[in-house]
Amino acid sequence: MSDPRRSIPALDVLLASPAFQELLGRYPRERVVKAARSAVDEARAALTEGGRPDDVTGAERLAGAAAARLAREDVPSLRPVINASGVVLHTNLGRAPLPRAAIQAMVQAGSGYTNLEYDIAAGRRGSRYVHCADLIRELTGAEAALVVNNAAAGLLLALNTVAAGKAVAVSRGELVEIGGGFRIPEVLERSGARLLEVGSTNRTRLADYAGPVRSGDVATVLKVHRSNFRMRGFTEEASLAELVELTHSAGISLLHDLGSGLLMDPGALGLPVEPRAAESLAAGADLVVVSGDKLLGGPQAGIVAGRADLVAAMTSNPLCRALRVDKTTLAALEATLRLYRDPPVALAEIPTLRMVAESVDAVRDRAEQLAGRIGEAGVDSAAVVESRCAVGGGTYPELEIPSWAVTVSAGPDVSAPQLAVRLREGTPPVVARIEGDRLLLEVRTVLPGEVEDLVRCVASAVGNQSAADR
Ligand SMILES: *Cc1c(COP(=O)(O)O)cnc(C)c1O
Repeated sequence: MSDPRRSIPALDVLLASPAFQELLGRYPRERVVKAARSAVDEARAALTEGGRPDDVTGAERLAGAAAARLAREDVPSLRPVINASGVVLHTNLGRAPLPRAAIQAMVQAGSGYTNLEYDIAAGRRGSRYVHCADLIRELTGAEAALVVNNAAAGLLLALNTVAAGKAVAVSRGELVEIGGGFRIPEVLERSGARLLEVGSTNRTRLADYAGPVRSGDVATVLKVHRSNFRMRGFTEEASLAELVELTHSAGISLLHDLGSGLLMDPGALGLPVEPRAAESLAAGADLVVVSGDKLLGGPQAGIVAGRADLVAAMTSNPLCRALRVDKTTLAALEATLRLYRDPPVALAEIPTLRMVAESVDAVRDRAEQLAGRIGEAGVDSAAVVESRCAVGGGTYPELEIPSWAVTVSAGPDVSAPQLAVRLREGTPPVVARIEGDRLLLEVRTVLPGEVEDLVRCVASAVGNQSAADR
């Protein structure tokens, strides 16, 4: 018997077939040829494994395989995801969704030229570091401010500027890992500074800092907000006010890594008290470092604010160039910061703040509407249940926000994890939460414009089998 692989048409015959001609009308020839070759390779492999020529070698079948490959290649790597996890600042899902004003500002800045580094009044070179600085000063009371790539970059730049080649005193209770392997001791080492650990894991008193600081060996004291865990029990730490007095009497600086970037009154969001940049600066910290995309609710950025001489030194540090932000980030950050001039507007317009602050009754209403829409789409298992959400992004580690979710099931034969896989395979992918043996769609983190897609994706996931559980 002849080799069944001979039944595969030659490439030029394939490309002349109507099905491939249709693909050639839609895609560049080179891409179609490549996809055709890979379809032929797959058909050959299928025949080697005992497949029947009729099932795999027809021009239409091969064109179908090529079309699927071409379509897969066109799915962007970075794409929208519906966050039904209930974690508002989900770092893996890109943290803060941006306010409308920030999106518009990014589109505008990205679409044309800007005065990024151009002094319009003088008609010559200006500085990119002036943008956002006035707003940050206004909102935090800082003398000066600098925006860099993220808070980690801000910390690296600040430490390199004030302490390269010198010692930095940090409490052993604050040598934390922020997330994704970002550890304070390692960043500090990369900044060229030397870590001087003081105190113990659970207790660090002012006296523990006093010896090293008075010895004249220490360039700065770094205080790190323990943003992603809590210490309880037999604990003690030196207060910011005590550290201000100690460092300033010794003529050295105090850096405060705050992380969250919360600018609003936490009470207005229903959140417990959290240290904020304005308070830390008012208490006398020389520099504070915060994130742009945590509770500030803006783009990924790091803000360093505080003493003008230190900010000027950071700006002229060559490392600053490597950590700088682009025009679209500055545009989005400026537009976000501007909203804070009117706190009720900030609360209404900044999605992360809105999600955190949304009343449990309002979330319940939205959950009931969503369950109703999912029911209308033919899924009879949708039910509204009480749940708990989290702020996330390494902030408010133990806080649970009372909330409401919609639970759905695809019947007794499909487990919640299997249904979660089907939801992630949708377009857009939906990231749900699994609690016990239930799958929950947390409504608090679903944006208003996403409901229609969510309903369609849920109906399709409940109704269809996915590749994963076939
Ligand atoms: C999140 C966090 C950082 C890092 O912020 P990025 O903007 O993600 O670099 C640094 N310090 C603290 C205390 C944090 O919570």
